[in-house]
Amino acid sequence: MPNPAPLHTIDLIRKKRDGLSLDPSEISFLVSGAASGSVPLEQLSAWLMAAWIRGLSLDETRSLTLAMRDSGEKFDPSPLGKVAVDKHSTGGVGDKTSFLVAPIAAACGLAVPMISGRALGHTGGTLDKLESIPGLRTDLTLPEFERVLAHCGASIVSQTPALVPADRVLYALRDRTGTVESPGLICASILSKKLAAGLNALVLDVKTGSGAFLRQEKDAEYLAALMVATAEAAGTRTVALLTDMGQPLGHAAGNWIELVEAVELLRNQRPPESEDLRELSLILAGWMIHLGGKASSPESGRQLAEAALEDGSALAIFFKMIEAQGGDTTVFEDLDVSPARMGGSIRFFNPGASDALESWGTGYISSMDTTKIGWAVQRLGAGREKAGEPVDPHAGIEFHARRGARVETGQPIATLYATTPAMLAEPIALLKEAITLSHTPPEPVALVSRIFTRENAEAHLRNAVR
Ligand code: URA
Repeated sequence: MPNPAPLHTIDLIRKKRDGLSLDPSEISFLVSGAASGSVPLEQLSAWLMAAWIRGLSLDETRSLTLAMRDSGEKFDPSPLGKVAVDKHSTGGVGDKTSFLVAPIAAACGLAVPMISGRALGHTGGTLDKLESIPGLRTDLTLPEFERVLAHCGASIVSQTPALVPADRVLYALRDRTGTVESPGLICASILSKKLAAGLNALVLDVKTGSGAFLRQEKDAEYLAALMVATAEAAGTRTVALLTDMGQPLGHAAGNWIELVEAVELLRNQRPPESEDLRELSLILAGWMIHLGGKASSPESGRQLAEAALEDGSALAIFFKMIEAQGGDTTVFEDLDVSPARMGGSIRFFNPGASDALESWGTGYISSMDTTKIGWAVQRLGAGREKAGEPVDPHAGIEFHARRGARVETGQPIATLYATTPAMLAEPIALLKEAITLSHTPPEPVALVSRIFTRENAEAHLRNAVR
């Protein structure tokens, strides 16, 4: 066999610029060049912009995902002797489902190696929420990760520096060059990290509605189908559910207060304002249990999930995992403090300032701009403006009324917790702008609007108008 012709980055940029498809070896060349630094950042940026404008074919998306997955070290869950499953949500506000589904799936006999992210823009970060537990570490090495998984069945950690190094470079460039919102690039970025964890099965929660990353329903559907087709082609059983982010999930959005809400549910308390969170967590866990081979259908998986919630086994695993990662579970004692009920532990919860938003009229909460609410949460101190900044574990918003609720003038709608009193004014104004009152109640919105599996994903991609 003659040696293949050498590749030149400039040719690959021009090829994509002109709307042609790159083959797997060309994509691998770019990805390994991104990870090693041998392809200059200006050329990677130009290629990313060409990919953003021209789009990536299904084959290119697959090649990019696999090349990125293979760009660094990987986690091998096979020594655990269990089926490895995970759930990934495409950003959200008040989304604490990971704290429920991970221990539930582990309680049903699966391994859940969950590599999570931090707050990004208006969306919250699982790691930031978890790190509000004193002592808890998320920066485990892969051997530590494996030990926690062997001990507890679940572990929630941050990406190690050597895992998918190509995504670190490409994601940072996309962030600075206006090339984030591309289905192919998003798909490869998310899945490369999930597949590097060696998953057998993956449940994707793709958000739609006012708080979603991709606000147009058709874009969210396309991304969901693309991720299912790509992950299935890589050998991971995958399903994607399109779920409502037209209001924050549950009644708390922030860091510590979200953990408190999750622990309330794990303790089998059922505040009515947490019903959507409980329901979505059971549906997602049901799919994890089904795809992981422990139930013959997602519905029977849901029943197993509910049993693990009700018999306390999921709670026991969650606390065991926190302790195995160095966290202090005594902060979850005495969680009930009224009127700031979500404050949680009297000993632990200590926000710098708080204030209530009262209703300015009488009527129904007809809609919420969840992205705006996410920014309010971030500006209270729960999120960050620049990468690497610390976040305030105590900051966040507790909702006393949610979409569809009838409120009277002067009735508290939400309590806001901030780092300092000066940080309250802007989030209160944002929250007020984000909430619409009307004389009639809104139409109910389905929690799960659509499901993509390997049976329907490719057909959707073929027929999608983009
Ligand atoms: N999250 C990721 O990890 N990558 C993206 O491209 C978008 C969201």
